[in-house]
Amino acid sequence: MTKLIDGKAIAAELRGQISADVTALVAIGVTPGLAVVLVGEDPASRVYVSMKEKACAAAGIYSVEHKLPVETAQTELLALIDSLNNNENIDGILVQLPLPEHIDEAKILEAILPAKDVDGFHPYNVGRLVTGHPVFQPCTPYGVMKMFEHIGVELKGKDVVIVGRSNIVGKPLALMCLAEHATVTICHSRTVDLPRKVAAADIVIAAVGRPEMVKGDWIKKGAIVIDVGVNRVGEKKLVGDVDFAAASINAAAITPVPGGVGPMTITMLLYNTVLSAKRRSGQKI
Ligand code: NDP
Repeated sequence: MTKLIDGKAIAAELRGQISADVTALVAIGVTPGLAVVLVGEDPASRVYVSMKEKACAAAGIYSVEHKLPVETAQTELLALIDSLNNNENIDGILVQLPLPEHIDEAKILEAILPAKDVDGFHPYNVGRLVTGHPVFQPCTPYGVMKMFEHIGVELKGKDVVIVGRSNIVGKPLALMCLAEHATVTICHSRTVDLPRKVAAADIVIAAVGRPEMVKGDWIKKGAIVIDVGVNRVGEKKLVGDVDFAAASINAAAITPVPGGVGPMTITMLLYNTVLSAKRRSGQKI
């Protein structure tokens, strides 16, 4: 029978551990702090930011939001980041993406102190991931790796196919799977014969942003399927990048959308913020 990978339950368990870690840090005078910077009024970004703040509050993490108008100049944003870099109560800085077009996203991400880059997007942290010595790992792929750990999937020797090569999901996930000794294939929009590539996989990870594009009959019998995609269909319905019902026929285990990878992403943001606070407290991690 196909096993449902319950991201909500895994995230809840991890958050319990995170709260316990926060309590221990507070007891020694270190309250983990996260600064969230939002530029503009993008409705989806506002929802994400408010979810992050609620999650911080529930875990006992101090969070502060900097809401800036859409016309904010790049120099003003850089000045804010500089002040957050120098604020010793702040362990993590998160700049919500996307940024307005007049702002150079790469420049902003590079201005964040790598030691406070809890999103793991700074080139220093990307480089450390490439060389196998990560400092902060990006939240969504890290959440997927925690899922594997939690359900006892060993990646060593497995054929992993990742559909999608973005900097925030596909590429870092490929590096993380490689570090766990999987053989990794990264597919993208120019990949030839995607169904055949997916059909060869022991583990399929879809991070595309196209509703149900990975079909059920592409999935090898007994494969594990991780669906990172979140696609709004119609007014209220959310679906993933995988045809869930059809893929469930062959999959040994599969994540639902919603309730799969989604809850893990914010959890790993909390995890990274607490990790940063632990380093501030002098712990060697
Ligand atoms: P991007 O748009 O940055 O990347 C999408 C990738 O999919 C690209 O590499 C693109 O290829 C590839 N692609 C597009 N069309 C096809 C196709 N027909 N066949 C094969 N590959 C294709 O998306 P993200 O990585 O940012 O996000 C992917 C999905 O994950 C989205 O649904 C997003 O909402 C979701 N997401 C969910 C998160 C969560 O917390 N659950 C967090 C982050 C993202 P190419 O490079 O050639 O253009």
